[in-house]
Amino acid sequence: MAKQEDIFKNVVSHAKEYGFIFPSSEVYDGLSAVYDYAQNGVELKKNIREYWWKSMVQMNDNIVGLDAAILMHPTTWKASGHVDAFNDPLIDNKDSKKRYRADVLVEDYAEKLNVKAKKEIEKARTRFGDAFNEQEFITTNPRVVEYLAKEREILERLAKGMSEDLADVKALIEELEIADPETGSRNWTDVKQFNLMFGTKLGASADSAMDLYLRPETAQGIFVNFVNVQKSGRMKVPFGIAQTGKAFRNEIVARQFIFRMREFEQMEMQFFVRPGDEMQHYEHWKEARLKWHLSLGLGQENYRFHDHEKLAHYANAAADIEFNFPFGFKELEGIHSRTDFDLKAHEQHSGRKLQYFDAELNKNYVPYVVETSLGLDRMFLAVFATSLKEEVLEDGSSRTVLKLPAVLAPTKAAVLPLVKKDGLPDIAHQIIEELKWDFNVTYDEKDAVGRRYRRQDALGTPFCITVDHQTIEDQTVTIRHRDTMKQDRVAIADLKSIIENEVSMKNWLMKM
Ligand code: ATP
Repeated sequence: MAKQEDIFKNVVSHAKEYGFIFPSSEVYDGLSAVYDYAQNGVELKKNIREYWWKSMVQMNDNIVGLDAAILMHPTTWKASGHVDAFNDPLIDNKDSKKRYRADVLVEDYAEKLNVKAKKEIEKARTRFGDAFNEQEFITTNPRVVEYLAKEREILERLAKGMSEDLADVKALIEELEIADPETGSRNWTDVKQFNLMFGTKLGASADSAMDLYLRPETAQGIFVNFVNVQKSGRMKVPFGIAQTGKAFRNEIVARQFIFRMREFEQMEMQFFVRPGDEMQHYEHWKEARLKWHLSLGLGQENYRFHDHEKLAHYANAAADIEFNFPFGFKELEGIHSRTDFDLKAHEQHSGRKLQYFDAELNKNYVPYVVETSLGLDRMFLAVFATSLKEEVLEDGSSRTVLKLPAVLAPTKAAVLPLVKKDGLPDIAHQIIEELKWDFNVTYDEKDAVGRRYRRQDALGTPFCITVDHQTIEDQTVTIRHRDTMKQDRVAIADLKSIIENEVSMKNWLMKM
């Protein structure tokens, strides 16, 4: 556990030290759960966004893009259910004054029972070897049966309390003697609902001002534009609309760096399908999204599906792609079959028809929707944290290297003159002039070349190109590969194609 925490601390400090992520308005001691992307972070984030956009919009002829405004007519949020139901149950500890999500406290307690059961199962597996029958063990071992039954009972009571009466959730917390994880105190307030939307006002004078919300998800901008896009683009069902953009949630507990922020970015795609066909599209998108993640090579073992048993009011099937973050497996992306809930709700509240005429079936209907919803910042964290490595080299020294997928790296190559004289800097600058039309490249002449290599390793730059005295003679340079540290002597004229081969989106996306 301590080790995991250390890794995470290292991720946060590396992100700051190397110009990826800073706390927002740090001169005023920051703003809780709000972050700024710095010179290298903004490039990595942009590359992730582009990698997603290309695979969604450019590579699918039945998916188009959209950039809807953050501010929307307030009735949008009434129709979507966010005004009435976008709540988290919060509870305060009276002694520590710390605030928690009541459901998370209970879920964490239940999870511990699950972990205990798993430990028993693993112990038995080792003991019995090949003869081990897991299913039989789970149903007959008294301890495992008890742990799992208790876990189920707690989660069922939680679900009931959440939908019917929050006093029962408080009672459950007291009954289970759940303590403040930080201080051990059991002195709790009642559980209250807390709406996660940020409010703001439109208009100059107080009496004529209209109450608005900062959007808590990008999806509704797509739903209200469904007919506009379908008609103007002459789109035929099934088709999708993709969008990336900011979303805002006043999260109660936001302590995990960019994993849970109050201002964050989503990359969503809503796919409109014939009613009845949704499960087939849902299965397709589950698979397609996992393949997209795997194409980046962060390791298959770091992903798993979590199929939802408890479904949101609008969904008839839902799953998360969970990722192995430095603090364990957590949701990275959601794939939801949302039925016709949203379009129907907007029809009712707007009085307009949000339907599609299906020429093949010769009838009008409200399409069903399958959505894929990925947090750009969470994706950033997944990529960044998994790529950060501390390596011990053959000579016993160590290096910090950010093994980012080359396609996402902020800078593709650094051009380094071996010394600051003899015309080498001029040649280096000429190389930069050539390469910068196609790639983000950088120049560095400060310090010994070995230190410059280390600095580029820590920034995740896949290539270092070194100009030396031989370059003057024969127009060749050395190119050093970040991950293997191998150096090859190549012609300046070949640099572009060597880099292109490793960083082109095409080559990476073709792995899907
Ligand atoms: P969680 O259960 O973690 O709060 P959620 O189920 O509310 O997430 P969705 O509403 O499905 O999340 O949003 C889709 C995606 O947006 C999530 O999978 C996640 O990647 C991202 N996301 C949601 N909330 C945040 C946040 N506060 N900060 C960063 N990313 C977020």
